[in-house]
Amino acid sequence: MIMLLLYYKFMKLRKIILKNYRNYENFEYDFLKNKTLIIGKNAQGKTNILESIFYLCALDSARIKKDSELILFNRDMTSIKAIVEKNDTELELEVVINPPKNKILKVNGLKKTKSKDFLRVLSSVNFSSSDLLLLRGEPQNRRKWLDLAIFQVYPLYIEKLAKFNKIRLQKASYLANMALQNDMLDVFNEQLAIASANVIYLRKKYLLELERVAKIKHKAMADNENLTIKYQTITDEFLNIEELKELIYQKLSEVKADEIRRQQCLIGAHRDDIDFYINEIDSKKYASQGQQRTIVLALKLAELQIIKEKINETPLLLLDDVLAELDNVRQNYLLNAIENDIQMIITSVDTLAFDDKFLENVDIVKISGGKIV
Ligand code: ATP
Ligand code: MG
Repeated sequence: MIMLLLYYKFMKLRKIILKNYRNYENFEYDFLKNKTLIIGKNAQGKTNILESIFYLCALDSARIKKDSELILFNRDMTSIKAIVEKNDTELELEVVINPPKNKILKVNGLKKTKSKDFLRVLSSVNFSSSDLLLLRGEPQNRRKWLDLAIFQVYPLYIEKLAKFNKIRLQKASYLANMALQNDMLDVFNEQLAIASANVIYLRKKYLLELERVAKIKHKAMADNENLTIKYQTITDEFLNIEELKELIYQKLSEVKADEIRRQQCLIGAHRDDIDFYINEIDSKKYASQGQQRTIVLALKLAELQIIKEKINETPLLLLDDVLAELDNVRQNYLLNAIENDIQMIITSVDTLAFDDKFLENVDIVKISGGKIV
């Protein structure tokens, strides 16, 4: 029998330094242990710390529309810096957000013009109590969750998505201002069809992989239930990018008059959604709250697994207020499913949800009003 030894590369977050980030004017913290527990009352800045770490992994956050929201009120710029240890090498990451200028990305002090070169350094899975509402939430929340997960394994996707959004906004503004002639619309539609096809293709591809893993994780928690995931878009078929582009262009041509009349982009990746089924029944509509939580937990564990498979590294696990929200069975399943060497940063209002054995090996940081206390 051949023994397969899986070897994951070493990756640890060693330090985080924030300047003018949300409610932190100046913040520095050295991560000394593998598990860090951030404790603080509501609105003291727990989620902000996890968000800043996640930002270094995705250059985006589930909570923002614009980067400028991350800057401390009444300041012009923010910087997020981190020291990462990877295979015996220390790397320094820094993002400076200073609108309206483009954000600056640096690795070891050297500017990176391509976000993919920056995103390759650190990866993480962020699991927050608000994720538990993923199925109940709006399609845009599900699209954002999916996009952020894809950034972790296909860093090129960030540019493809940005391109799609740019063309879509240009077309929307054209539709809002156009005179009666529609000759430019064909040009926009051609570009939008390509950009949309790129996004839809990668989202479908990622979801197929995610479904493969999430099914197994889900079954381990609910053995008579079969989870399936479907990307809801203009077609159920798995087309290649060229075929997708043709189909989108054709559909865009069909809705031209409608788009002009309603002054809206009616077809594309921005209208899609993700469906989850248990034994072929639509979970968004019919699953109980507990069943929905089990699905989300399976998705998060699958995200983690996929990062490990794709980039051969164990990502950070950022658990925002989520452990206290899970019942004992799901909490144990989560903690047991995670290898001991994975770096976890956890937030909670208190230590009540954690047993003594868990707390023995944890570094506890207390936060109040944007400061360590
Ligand atoms: P909870 O336990 O309720 O989740 P939390 O400790 O996670 O609380 P955070 O979400 O980190 O709290 O937010 C802490 C505070 O940061 C909030 O009071 C919020 O108003 C503030 N805040 C958010 N954005 C900014 C900003 N750009 N500038 C200054 N303060 C901000
Ligand atoms: Mg919070």
